[in-house]
Amino acid sequence: MARVYNFSAGPAVLPEEVLKEAADEMLDYKGSGMSVMEMSHRSKVYETIINEAEQDLRDLMNIPDNYKVLFLQGGASQQFAMIPMNLMKNKVADYIVTGQWAKKAASEAAKYGKVNVIASSADETFSYIPDCSDLDISEDADYVYICENNTIYGTKFKELPNTKGKELIADVSSCFLSEPVDVTKYGIIYGGVQKNIGPAGVVIVIIREDLITEDVLEGTPTMLQYKTHADAKSLYNTPPAYGIYMCGKVFKWLKKQGGLAAMKEYNEKKAKILYDFLDESKLFKGTVRKEDRSLMNVPFVTGNDELDAKFVKEAKEAGFENLKGHRSVGGMRASIYNAMPIAGVEALVKFMRDFEQANL
Ligand SMILES: *Cc1c(COP(=O)(O)O)cnc(C)c1O
Repeated sequence: MARVYNFSAGPAVLPEEVLKEAADEMLDYKGSGMSVMEMSHRSKVYETIINEAEQDLRDLMNIPDNYKVLFLQGGASQQFAMIPMNLMKNKVADYIVTGQWAKKAASEAAKYGKVNVIASSADETFSYIPDCSDLDISEDADYVYICENNTIYGTKFKELPNTKGKELIADVSSCFLSEPVDVTKYGIIYGGVQKNIGPAGVVIVIIREDLITEDVLEGTPTMLQYKTHADAKSLYNTPPAYGIYMCGKVFKWLKKQGGLAAMKEYNEKKAKILYDFLDESKLFKGTVRKEDRSLMNVPFVTGNDELDAKFVKEAKEAGFENLKGHRSVGGMRASIYNAMPIAGVEALVKFMRDFEQANL
């Protein structure tokens, strides 16, 4: 068996230890005589799995009691609609557009109310995070929306915007559990788990209780109301049961690594190896403003499309998978999520160094 170094932006690398454990439990989960895939989501055994997953996530993120944790489906993209449907009481929301995902979220919300784009970095291909310390927040805005880590462009908010008292809603799909967060600063934190937590099919929504109401936009389907899922503890209908079980395993793995402060330190160390190399390289260069660099997604280019393609091809042959940049930006992108070991980044930098020697 040969495992590659997988730099995919998502679905992405998972801890090997977790995959092995799941393999061991595949046919007989803890003496139940069946796989978690085959189990009733209403069984005692499964109840323990989902409750422990929620508790471990609460411990990791230090989630206060007045926030609900929901395990939902539909991916992060479904939240683009669910958020306005549930929160747009005045039918006005402010969006900060720092990439494709924020842009998509803004255009979806525009179906339900007035969307004000109060800041954007579209003028420089989303290569930076705009100054959000004193924005023109709309007086009647129901919330302010950000995509905290921009998976495609490789930028991250290092400081949260000053929302001047409005609720902050954040898509953290690609930086979920990569470092500690202060949950109390947000109304909603949400993300698809397939980037940094588990298998595709689960989206986690952490939402402050007072934002969960029956007062939603007319016509909002039952399945798209936060209240439905909060009241039923994520078991209104069949949840993505196996995916939640895998997330739970990753939460336990993260606790074993020392929690989010330890992950931050590890992720910083890992990213520094790659960024330091990009800063000194004569062939490769990073594409975003230094202060705004993401710890998770690292885009880079040679400046020559043919050479980029050659690099991606040769890297693949050497066991470095999924380094091709997003189709909207080209070049390369290395996603170095929690489960990517330092050895993987070191090996990649060595490969890049050799490639530079051979091609300069
Ligand atoms: C991948 C991604 C999405 C889309 O996620 P889906 O689960 O495929 O809908 C949204 N936001 C961010 C930041 C992402 O990285």
